[in-house]
Amino acid sequence: RAKQAGRATYKIFEAQMDVELQARKALEYDLRQAVLKNELEVHYQPLIDLEARAVAAVEALVRWRHPTRGLVSPAEFIPLAEETGLIVAIGEWVLETACLQALEWPQLRVAVNLSPVQFRGRELVETVDGVLVRTGLDPARLELEITESVLINDATAALEILNGLKSLGVRIAMDDFGTGYSSLGYLNSFPFDKIKIDRSFIGDMSSKDKSGAIVKSVISLGQSLNMVTTAEGVETIEQATFLTNEGCDQLQGFYFSKPVTASELTAFIDRWEGSDIMSIVAA
Ligand code: C2E
Ligand code: MG
Ligand code: MG
Ligand code: MG
Repeated sequence: RAKQAGRATYKIFEAQMDVELQARKALEYDLRQAVLKNELEVHYQPLIDLEARAVAAVEALVRWRHPTRGLVSPAEFIPLAEETGLIVAIGEWVLETACLQALEWPQLRVAVNLSPVQFRGRELVETVDGVLVRTGLDPARLELEITESVLINDATAALEILNGLKSLGVRIAMDDFGTGYSSLGYLNSFPFDKIKIDRSFIGDMSSKDKSGAIVKSVISLGQSLNMVTTAEGVETIEQATFLTNEGCDQLQGFYFSKPVTASELTAFIDRWEGSDIMSIVAA
């Protein structure tokens, strides 16, 4: 009986695996089609510079405009894109799209996320160089965001690639700072220009005293290392005020704007000039 029940359970399990596998295959097929059918879009979220009191940069964030599912978030398809290697083509497309778009915002830097998968081959430096040449964007206006997962597997190879990117004249930011297990060590060994404090710390600041203390010390760490500090996930005026008072350089989050289309971002900048949102923050 027990054996029979076991077999039945296994059958259900097998059937479920099948359903999951098929769903994954379908998604993979859809994603390949999406690339071909131009269903991917790049949205932009502003980074507010507190000293200049202006939008200093935008982060490019990919979305998938699915014909039936609507706007699909990268959290839902980047992992699959990474498993299948599609991320290499998608990443280059995002990079080129964002660099071209940045030509329309001459006063802004543009930040683009890189996947660890893009670091596997040897061609990343060449790819970025190619995009800069094709678009004519000043390399100093491009910032590449990486997470420490890029550095974990083969730190020597990663360092070589990062140095290659730096020699193109682009800037490197450490994204999601504090979520990994060796962020501090990496700051010491790799040529980062910026630290982006992960939004989990910003979100916890009001409920956990420790998060406020951690954020404070990461800001002063960034200052002593001559790196720009950006806080991610700023959603409230209290968070914005705290970060301003602690000397954080840049703020990014829904309090200012969600990621929006390029034309919406242009409208945001127009609205911003002449608005007094910064006097509220600085109060
Ligand atoms: P990330 O690079 O850390 O990007 C910041 C994420 O935080 C974005 O999510 C953004 O919408 C979200 N965010 C910004 N402000 C707030 C806030 O105030 N509150 C909350 N709750 N969230 C906020 P998104 O666009 O869903 O992207 C998720 C992740 O997907 C990104 O995290 C990045 O790791 C990855 N990603 C997005 N676009 C690309 C891409 O073109 N290439 C690669 N490799 N990864 C990408
Ligand atoms: Mg990022
Ligand atoms: Mg981040
Ligand atoms: Mg993040």
